Amino acid sequence: MSVLVKTILSVKGRNVVTIGPNVTLAEAAKVLEENRIGAVVVVGMENRIVGIFTERDVVTAIGRHGAESLNKSVSALMTANVYRCGEDATVDELMEVMSTRRFRHVPVEEGGQLVGIISIGDVVKSRIREIETEAEHIKAYIAG
Ligand code: AMP
Repeated sequence: MSVLVKTILSVKGRNVVTIGPNVTLAEAAKVLEENRIGAVVVVGMENRIVGIFTERDVVTAIGRHGAESLNKSVSALMTANVYRCGEDATVDELMEVMSTRRFRHVPVEEGGQLVGIISIGDVVKSRIREIETEAEHIKAYIAG
């Protein structure tokens, strides 16, 4: 059975960096850089998810509108239709969604509240661990 999202969160933690929708692109880029991350979740009232803003969106905005986009608000540049999952989602499900829909971040939501985020790096790390464990079992079986 594939690893559950809650298992990954229990190891990596549940802290998620967020910003409000009125933050400018320049400020959002600073948040990404200072936290050394590729995505921030945009939250509105009561910490509800209203969008996601990633390094890809920084490149798209500057590529399309040039330096003037630095003062635009994130609400105009983020993706508002956010794919999210619950803690009982599996790593295999997320791997499928990330590869078919071409994004690298999935916020985790429970009862309307943001409780974590899974990146493609977390998915890859978890899959490698699974494959290594499987290989060890097979080796032990063959040797045993
Ligand atoms: P990423 O590969 O995560 O940097 O994102 C690529 C594009 O997909 C960007 O325009 C993001 O705003 C968008 N995106 C990232 N994660 C999600 C998500 N979970 N749901 C919907 N769009 C997303």
